[in-house]
Amino acid sequence: MKFQKVLIANRGEIAVRIIRACRELGLHSVTVYSTADRSALHAKIADESVCIGPAATKDSYLNMQALIAACKNTGAEAIHPGFGFLSESAEFAALCKEHGITFIGPSPESISMLGDKARAKETMKAAGVPVIPGSEGVLKDADDAKRIAEEIGYPVLVKASAGGGGRGIRRVDSPEQMEQQLTLAKEEALKFFGNDEVYLEKLIVGPHHVEIQILADSFGNTVALGERDCSMQRRNQKVIEESPSPLMTDDLRQKMQDAAVKAAKAAGYCNAGTIEFLVDHERNFYFMEMNTRIQVEHPVTEFVTGIDLVQMQLRIAQGEALPFVQDDIKISGHAIECRINAENPELDFRPSPGTIYSIYTPGGPGVRIDSAVYQGYTIPPYYDSMIAKLIVHAPSRKEAIMKMRCALAEFIVDGIDTNIDFQLKLLKNQNFEDGDYDNAFLTSYLEQLKKS
Ligand code: ADP
Ligand code: ADP
Ligand code: MG
Repeated sequence: MKFQKVLIANRGEIAVRIIRACRELGLHSVTVYSTADRSALHAKIADESVCIGPAATKDSYLNMQALIAACKNTGAEAIHPGFGFLSESAEFAALCKEHGITFIGPSPESISMLGDKARAKETMKAAGVPVIPGSEGVLKDADDAKRIAEEIGYPVLVKASAGGGGRGIRRVDSPEQMEQQLTLAKEEALKFFGNDEVYLEKLIVGPHHVEIQILADSFGNTVALGERDCSMQRRNQKVIEESPSPLMTDDLRQKMQDAAVKAAKAAGYCNAGTIEFLVDHERNFYFMEMNTRIQVEHPVTEFVTGIDLVQMQLRIAQGEALPFVQDDIKISGHAIECRINAENPELDFRPSPGTIYSIYTPGGPGVRIDSAVYQGYTIPPYYDSMIAKLIVHAPSRKEAIMKMRCALAEFIVDGIDTNIDFQLKLLKNQNFEDGDYDNAFLTSYLEQLKKS
């Protein structure tokens, strides 16, 4: 299981993040890039880099055979998949195994069970983890859906079982809407995930999205590293994340961490993972899904725990045991992350690729930037619009908010549109300041902005 050379099957800030972790552990890094990414940072700063195909992701970052070939050609013995792309592909994890390459993540069996969200819920329910009321497994047809919705009560959500990135989720308020929304959800699921299976869930009104980070080694040790509140969402996609959650209590954290560890154990889980829960107004919590990879917002957990999660992923994959136990984990201070996207909030967040002709990034104590852009870099139009993450850490939530406001105000990017000013507006919002926001907040905030 020991390896010296790691191939990073990703791009953008997360590829750069993984290069850094490899270097700090004395591991050699190999990146892959598409023809559109020749001048991308991850291609420039790795120890080695190989072109893997044309711009279209199916021909490059999603091309399993090309990635395996790149390992063989460079002598890489392990693959870190990052997030998105092939990170949650059981097929790819199995293919790596077949070729004697270490996949830095859980087993293909765990990925496949948890990636089927309807099945994962059944497993969790059986293990005694509270789940959101809904269908048992996937829906047969519209009549089946209507029958279950009637039982649990409207409004409900139809959700893609293979879903991710907030896609393939449709709200249904009455039986009359079921047929149409079901069809739309199935179509979207097929288009994005190549699988049209959907399941039904009760819509929890105004919940918080609170997720628990876990680490599990191959010796059966599983440790929870506190929570992240990701309730600031637009179209089911996260915009700001923070830890601790403004609604957290010691008692609730204890219960959620216990449930998360139980969930990971029920899945036979190894490596880093995240259990996503919804928490309602009475502080009841329900399992939603488990993400079997490193997450975009992992830096907030790194700040409050002092643990390098990407290094831990590499060390676990090397066969090391966790160097700490649950009681060693202490949550210290408060961390906030803002996702910085190349997009125009005034034009319905339209992506804004193009050339950055000048950039100034904030700094100072407790300020971290994970980015893949630099002066003169041209952002290609083919990929995700997230270009950087700004993360701050301070002793209290109040101080973290002040620090984030200062950092956002210092952050200057010329040449493209970004959401930096929009993020600053959110950081100055009274509801955010009071910790008084839930999953529905940003949507209604944006509607109000439109009206005014
Ligand atoms: P996180 O849960 O880490 O916050 P996101 O849901 O924001 O992650 O997804 C991270 C990245 O991975 C985004 O670029 C998103 O579009 C992509 N992604 C997530 N799930 C999938 C999926 N099942 N298929 C394709 N891309 C996905
Ligand atoms: P994905 O796999 O796309 O990340 P999730 O199941 O994690 O999908 O849901 C994404 C987001 O959609 C959640 O963070 C939450 O804001 C919202 N959501 C999902 N299920 C429900 C539900 N039953 N009730 C209310 N909101 C939900
Ligand atoms: Mg999710």
